Amino acid sequence: MSITQVSDSEWYTAAWRDRKRRFLTCVLALNSFWILVLFGFLSQISERFNASGRTLLLAFAVWFVGQIAAGVWLNRFRCPGCGNLFY
Ligand SMILES: [Zn+2]
Repeated sequence: MSITQVSDSEWYTAAWRDRKRRFLTCVLALNSFWILVLFGFLSQISERFNASGRTLLLAFAVWFVGQIAAGVWLNRFRCPGCGNLFY
């Protein structure tokens, strides 16, 4: 095994680790929606979580943009084998 092959496989490992990180970030971003749902639900039943509709709408907008950004970041990952976009 030449030095080039070793560094290639290391690069592959790093690339796939990066892809895994992007994927997990995307999954977390999507699932953080349930925190919003929970918060909205709590504000309906409890005075302590009395968030206004405007606050919830803003929180939803932030979530939506963040989720889109995470999705774009994930989809911009390039295949370490051929350099094409993974999706
Ligand atoms: Zn490929």
